[in-house]
Amino acid sequence: MGVLGLRPIPERCAACSICELACTFHHTKAFGRRPSSIAVHKDHVTGEVTIAIHETEAGPRRACDLCAGERVPLCVKWCPVGAVGTTRTRP
Ligand code: SF4
Ligand code: SF4
Repeated sequence: MGVLGLRPIPERCAACSICELACTFHHTKAFGRRPSSIAVHKDHVTGEVTIAIHETEAGPRRACDLCAGERVPLCVKWCPVGAVGTTRTRP
């Protein structure tokens, strides 16, 4: 697919955490949230959602490798509302 980057669209995000589980599965072949390179946060007072993509490892959190070895990044593939898009692709 040639994905060069991710483009989070937080205004679409339902904060369901599926992308975090999918990302952790990519890294560890198990489900969880702590190793995920994508981090979703919803402010329960304001309702504002933020989506962070971590490019460096920190503690249990793995660095995003754009899902090396996968045809489509799993966070993009499994987001039910299209809240994680991709930037340019090449053939
Ligand atoms: S592209 Fe893959 S490694 Fe990067 S945040 Fe998405 S699921 Fe995680
Ligand atoms: S899977 Fe999509 S809707 Fe769910 S938390 Fe991730 S970006 Fe938001």
